[in-house]
Amino acid sequence: MLIVMQKDASGDQIAAVNEKIVALGLTAHAIPGAQRVAIGITGNQSGLLEPGLFSCLGGVQDVIRVSQPYKLVSREVKPDDTVIEVGGVKIGGGHFCVMAGPCSVESRDQVMRTAMHVREHGAHMLRGGAYKPRTSPYEFQGLKLEGLKLLAEAREKTGMPIITEVKDTATLAQVAEYADVLQIGARNMQNFSLLEALGELKKPVMLKRGPSATVREWLMAAEYIVARGNYQVILCERGIRTFETLTRNTLDLGILPILREMTHLPIVVDPSHGTGRVTAVTPMARAAAATHVDGIMVEVHPDPKTALSDGPQALTFPMFETLMREIRPIVKGGGQHFA
Ligand code: PEP
Ligand code: MN
Repeated sequence: MLIVMQKDASGDQIAAVNEKIVALGLTAHAIPGAQRVAIGITGNQSGLLEPGLFSCLGGVQDVIRVSQPYKLVSREVKPDDTVIEVGGVKIGGGHFCVMAGPCSVESRDQVMRTAMHVREHGAHMLRGGAYKPRTSPYEFQGLKLEGLKLLAEAREKTGMPIITEVKDTATLAQVAEYADVLQIGARNMQNFSLLEALGELKKPVMLKRGPSATVREWLMAAEYIVARGNYQVILCERGIRTFETLTRNTLDLGILPILREMTHLPIVVDPSHGTGRVTAVTPMARAAAATHVDGIMVEVHPDPKTALSDGPQALTFPMFETLMREIRPIVKGGGQHFA
């Protein structure tokens, strides 16, 4: 349920609504908005809450039942786009963000060279995996703590905030100490203990779509984080599993305009994992930008054929330059801000 307060509602009136929610054993969530103060209510498991309990209180303009099972992430509850700001970089609400870097952090030289190159050509955030979720236990599992330290060094050198994956609750505190944005990998989209733990943190999270998750399941996973009080969630479409085997995954671009209507959270597209084929990455980045998403994430490597993970989808340095040159006019032409 959503309580919309009158524009001139007083602090005491807002406090009275919050107190009543808590007295009923429910949870109140302040929903920031440009035009109004609103309070979301969760925990109403019976669904029997009466609007009259709140509409009689002073300063209340409207009491709205939220029809979707995902509540706090829905547009119904918050019509304004959520804008996330990290290390001076904005994502959402018309601000386009390019996240680029290697799949895995492999060495100081590899991550520094890549960071310097992508920064020079306009990337806003550095990506790189330190804890790698690999399909095979025999493949490179990441440099772990050493990888996090190298990312922090690259941040120091380039000024770019860093995004890196957190694989489990056991390493969450360590990864959170270094990362500016915590990435939840596709394989972990429904790791509910991890989602709950992220909800307790005050750090932005990028939640990748599971390879076989519907959009509704994905939004419910985001709701787990937001319901615990962490409202800084970015959604990342990275392809889903279909019958097609030419590409690693099927990048689901068709859902993007619909997703935009369903949620106020920023949306990023990852055409690297979404296709797995380097020749498809830049065209799909252009296509994603044309749908007015809030950013892209791409993998870049100084020498993809020697990459320890995801070499076949890694852009070379010149390819990254081309991508940036090509998407800039698309983003700007769509009325978005590209810093
Ligand atoms: C990654 O970003 O390197 C990664 C493992 O992505 P995904 O979880 O989408 O497979
Ligand atoms: Mn990868």
